Formats: sequence, structure tokens, C-alpha cells
Amino acid sequence: MITRFAPSPTGPLHLGHAYSALLAYDMALEAGGDFLLRIEDIDQSRARPEWETQIFDDLKWLGLWWPEPVMRQSDRLGVYHDKLRWLWNHGYAFACSCSRRDIQNAMSAPQEGVSHGPDGLIYPGTCRAHHCQGSTVPFPENTAIRLSIEAVARKHGSALTGAETFSFVETGEGPNGETGLIEFTLEDAIKTIGDVVLARRDMGTSYHLSVVLDDAKQGITHVVRGQDLFEATKIHVILQRILKLPTPMYHHHKLIRDDAGKRLAKRDDARAISKYRQDGASPDDIRAWVGF
Ligand code: GLU
Repeated sequence: MITRFAPSPTGPLHLGHAYSALLAYDMALEAGGDFLLRIEDIDQSRARPEWETQIFDDLKWLGLWWPEPVMRQSDRLGVYHDKLRWLWNHGYAFACSCSRRDIQNAMSAPQEGVSHGPDGLIYPGTCRAHHCQGSTVPFPENTAIRLSIEAVARKHGSALTGAETFSFVETGEGPNGETGLIEFTLEDAIKTIGDVVLARRDMGTSYHLSVVLDDAKQGITHVVRGQDLFEATKIHVILQRILKLPTPMYHHHKLIRDDAGKRLAKRDDARAISKYRQDGASPDDIRAWVGF
């Protein structure tokens, strides 16, 4: 078993991160496997070296150990770019110049069904009309690039009526208790996920594209992470199918909430691990607080 913890160095680690990291670590250890660390710093406008240093310090203090060198996403931008071009050349992607406001306006007409997916508003398809021409059109620079789920359906010979199902194994639990074999169709994906961004204009990649390529590169067998990423897993499974990468098992875990029941956020400094350390807590106290 190979698990990983993949924090973004954009703020202090809090109790929710401690839970995720400890769970991934314990699972790997119990199985006689490996626990890997990966720094997800594609958002260079928010990532800071001092947060990265604090992540290492906090995790070591918690008693975690991982092999060096640590994978850092900012070292892999070339890999992401090559795969993005491959997706473009094979007609899976289209350029999108919509602003957030454009998407909101297009959505303001009454809609049926779900309007929010893992990345916020589900893309209404504005730029899809002139889409996915593949290598007949030069790769666009300085534009966001989206995955066309319709193109995936066409190319994988599955009618949108959902003849072909996609699946992954969930060993934890989704937000609505989903567990075991999770199956979905591309029709579901169009409704609940939409054409997600594969590359942001300012980054040349996205969380989804990078995480799928990195999990495969690191040979991760069990992805341990919070339930908030359960729906995003469907995007990852679709990308794994297109890119011919293995689908690992997924273990989504409960989210650690504050006393008011609100999910902890990076800016929630009061629950930063470093704050508890300064106040004299022990790693065992942290384990107990998050419910080990
Ligand atoms: N970098 C992500 C975060 O800090 C975690 C992504 C993942 O575990 O897939 O929320």
C-alpha cells in the first residue's frame, strides 16, 4: 500500500490536515507500505516557502516520516503541460475565455437540477460550441482550457445515455455515506461535474490534472483525503481512463469541524497545529482531539 498526504503550502496546517496525514500514515504503516508527502504548490501566487517549512516541522512533530526527496508540483509544470497538449491534440479539450461573471450570467436563467459541482458553478457550455478541434487548431496560449465530457463520451464510444460506466472503490465514505464500488456514467458527470478546467490561464494546469498525474507517478495505491473531494474523484477517474493511468482506491474521511460544526479552513489559525504546539499540546493530544 502506498498512501500520500498532499498539502498546499498556502497557510498553516490545522487539525483537519493532521487527521488526514495521520490516517494516511497509519494506514500505510499498518499495511507495511509507504507514506509519501507531496507539496501541491501550483498556485504560485499563494504558495510560500515559509508555509512549506512549517508543514515539514508540523508533520515531523506529529511523528510522521516520509522518504526524500519530496515531490513538488512546481517542479512538474513541464509534465502537466505535455499531457495538456496531448489532451488538446486528441480533441478532449477546448479553450474557454469565460470569466466567472460570464458563467454566473449564463447560469442566471432558471436551470433544472444541480448547479454546483466540485469546482463551483457547473460550466454552462458557452465556449463548447467551437470546441475540441484537436491538433487541427494550434494549442492556445493564455486561455483557460476545459475538459469536454461530451468529447470523452464520443471518443470512448459510450452513448451519453450511460451505457459505459466508470467506477472506483471507496474504502472510506463519501458525504452521503457512499462506500464500496462507486459507479457513475458520463451522463451523471455532465450533470454533476460539467466541463471542468484542466488548465487555468494563470497556471497552465489545474488541481485535477496535476493530482491525477502525480498520484500515478508516485504509484499511490490508496488516496486518503477529506470527503469534500469525493465528487472530484469522478473527474479524476475520467482523466485516468483517458490518460490510461491506473485508478487507485480512494479513502475519503470525515471532515474535522469547529465547535459550531463549520469545516476548518486554512485561515482558521486558532486551530493551527503550530498554535497547539506552542500552547504545550502533545502529538497524542492532537490524535485524541481528532478522534483516533
Ligand atoms: N492539495 C489539496 C489540499 O490541500 C489536497 C488534494 C488531495 O488530497 O487530493 O486540499
